[in-house]
Amino acid sequence: MKIAIVGLGLIGGSIGNKLKDQNSKFKIIGIPRRKKTIDLAIKLGAIDEGTADLTAGVKEAEVVFICTPISLIIPTINRIAPYLKQGAIVTDVGSSKEQIVEQAEKIMAKGTFFVGGHPMAGKEKVKLEAAEADLFQGRTWILTPTRKTNPRAIQVISRLVVLLGGKVMQMDPKTHDLVVAVISHMPLAVAAALVNTIADEKKNREKMKKCAASGFRDTTRIASGDPELGIDMFVTNQKAVLKALGSFKKSLSRLEKAIKSGKNSAMAKELAKAKKFRDSIYR
Ligand code: NAP
Repeated sequence: MKIAIVGLGLIGGSIGNKLKDQNSKFKIIGIPRRKKTIDLAIKLGAIDEGTADLTAGVKEAEVVFICTPISLIIPTINRIAPYLKQGAIVTDVGSSKEQIVEQAEKIMAKGTFFVGGHPMAGKEKVKLEAAEADLFQGRTWILTPTRKTNPRAIQVISRLVVLLGGKVMQMDPKTHDLVVAVISHMPLAVAAALVNTIADEKKNREKMKKCAASGFRDTTRIASGDPELGIDMFVTNQKAVLKALGSFKKSLSRLEKAIKSGKNSAMAKELAKAKKFRDSIYR
């Protein structure tokens, strides 16, 4: 099977690494922007061959993974659609889905198929150098088929996700966007605001910086991610992110009220509720 990966960064590189580890019957074609990236990806064992020519690169592929920044996913599908071979399946890894799936389904030519996807894996370090074959091991990989999605295409992508170490979960694009707004995009906004609270501190900022230990590091880790990826999340999932931030503000002001009241029982109610729920996620 010939598999093309457009965009060889953390996610694209990790997909290539794992697929090459898994099965020598796959031929992995990497399609980055620059020749330099092709050489590095071959050296790191993420691809078999590469080209910076997008349309030539996807021509022979049975499956195309689009792993570019979110804002480039639809422009990329637009460019490759006329060159895909019959039966080809395109999937993406973008962190928001509703807009992408809606537009991709309109663009795909007859006899070629699209399945929206989003691996729930990542780290604050991005780019190809940070790629690792085990990035998706045991992680949920959301697929967002719609009524229009071809069943064989879902099956093929699901099988590849399993080979990548992921656990397939299906949901519709709108539900996906609501879910990731709450568990991924809103936390990024909160982590950034948390860090900026200290960055804006005039008098004791340096002391705070020196004293910040593992608690602060754990709470704010995602604020060290690539700002471009964050902007893409907020722009393409604006409605759901704003809704999630609204809920967060309500939750924060409940806690604020409890602290203001000075009543242990009021504070315990909020903190115990959070502990119980968090402990049920990360046992
Ligand atoms: P990344 O490490 O920055 O990689 C993005 C790659 O896309 C870079 O290698 C970049 O090339 C390449 N690229 C940019 N424009 C391109 C173009 N026109 N043609 C071909 N390649 C192009 O980012 P990433 O973390 O892998 O994220 C990629 C996608 O994965 C995004 O859609 C994101 O929403 C999704 N995602 C990310 C995470 C995460 O935690 N990072 C998790 C799940 C999903 P250069 O190296 O030349 O800049």
